[in-house]
Amino acid sequence: MKHILFDTIAAIATAKGEGGIGIIRISGDKSFEILDKIFKLNKGNEIGNYKLRYGFIHDNNKIIDEAMVVKMPGPRSYTAEDVVEINCHGGYLITQRVLELVLKNGATLASKGEFTKRAFMNGRIDLSQAEAVIDIIEGKSESSLDISIKNLRGDLSNMIKEFKKTLLDITAHVNVVLDYPEEGIDDPIPDNLLSDLHKVYDKANELIISYDKGKLIKMGIKTAIVGRPNVGKSTLLNSLLREERAIVTNVAGTTRDTIEETINIKGIPLILVDTAGIRKTDDIVESIGVKKSKEIIEKADLVLMILDSSSEFTKEDKEIIDFISENNKKVIYLLNKIDLERKIDISYLKDSDIIEISAMKNIGISDMEDKLYEFITENQVQDTGEKHILTNIRHKTALEKTKVAIENIFNTIELSLPLDLISVDLKEALDSLGEITGEITSEDILDHIFGNFCVGK
Ligand code: GDP
Ligand code: ZN
Repeated sequence: MKHILFDTIAAIATAKGEGGIGIIRISGDKSFEILDKIFKLNKGNEIGNYKLRYGFIHDNNKIIDEAMVVKMPGPRSYTAEDVVEINCHGGYLITQRVLELVLKNGATLASKGEFTKRAFMNGRIDLSQAEAVIDIIEGKSESSLDISIKNLRGDLSNMIKEFKKTLLDITAHVNVVLDYPEEGIDDPIPDNLLSDLHKVYDKANELIISYDKGKLIKMGIKTAIVGRPNVGKSTLLNSLLREERAIVTNVAGTTRDTIEETINIKGIPLILVDTAGIRKTDDIVESIGVKKSKEIIEKADLVLMILDSSSEFTKEDKEIIDFISENNKKVIYLLNKIDLERKIDISYLKDSDIIEISAMKNIGISDMEDKLYEFITENQVQDTGEKHILTNIRHKTALEKTKVAIENIFNTIELSLPLDLISVDLKEALDSLGEITGEITSEDILDHIFGNFCVGK
């Protein structure tokens, strides 16, 4: 493993605020020296490596906190450098104080993502694995977490490595043909290598296609609950949010008083669009109706339209339905209040997906969730099983370049164009794969990627 010399950096690695413990992480050649200056082992202990040890943090013999400390010599550490982690008490003030002491003794404050960036720069992980770290931290659903963990383990990196191997084999062959024209090799690429190249092409293509599913799993599906006033939108929303098996998270939205509520349907997050509106308008005179429904529909990937089975089908129902189909939105119709006597005539909907529920009596809700899941997986995504799913747009863009380069190679062969052309495209294909793993990546892109991390990671 290559080892590049950097400053010794330090940061608080745990989340801000009060907690049971707070961890200060130090990385770099001076880590152990700094630790010696500020840490006294409990009597009779030996520090050792990769072992958690109890003792005291002190500033010139003034005890600041008791702490558990671990020394991890590089390259067997997170950054591949010498790393120290100090577990102290978790208060904001105390972790801050220990950090300041570490800085005073020779470390500089780490910037965002700098520990992970060092792991990358030192060659312990590649760029796609570094990106998986941030995805794990930000993971919002079980499925997205699963994918990130696979990526961190190197599943994607290994596929890219296989692709590269094929391309390098072909490059070697093409070079021989170009360098020794007198050998009279007329096959630009032998059949076995060509069939490997087709496999790379197909796999790259599958990965590119899988991004549509990956995006949904990672970002969630923007889902709108609409319908004319009094059909039961708020009631359904509350029942969905109350469901114990639906994990509810509140994320601060982009504007000040909106909240985005997410429910997880079997691992796929549905982000409910503008639920604040549904809730708020109930308290005041105006209720969310047709106009607001249209606004929400425009922002959504998926629409849940509610109809009231206990009343007549109205002009307003029709207006919303028409708007949904004019905008080509994916929609599921929910026929609510089926606990009451049925008055509605839904022949207008012909053979659309309709699910009967009672939001109030909690009838058909789990059915609805099952059908919702089926609907999402059938319409938007195919189950790719064990196959890899791309979740990162940067990776998709790079693979698209690879794909075009390989298409050019097929073309050159087909049209018997000069062999030099293949060399150019082979290089292009290899370079774009290198962007994914980070061998060929500009400083700007690195700054952008690591700038998304939190300090201390
Ligand atoms: P919204 O204006 O679409 O948000 O409708 P609300 O959720 O505020 O519901 C309007 C009225 O219908 C309320 O009095 C609810 O209690 C009632 N309601 C909602 N869902 C059902 C249901 O499934 N069955 C019955 N019987 N009443 C319901
Ligand atoms: Zn309401």
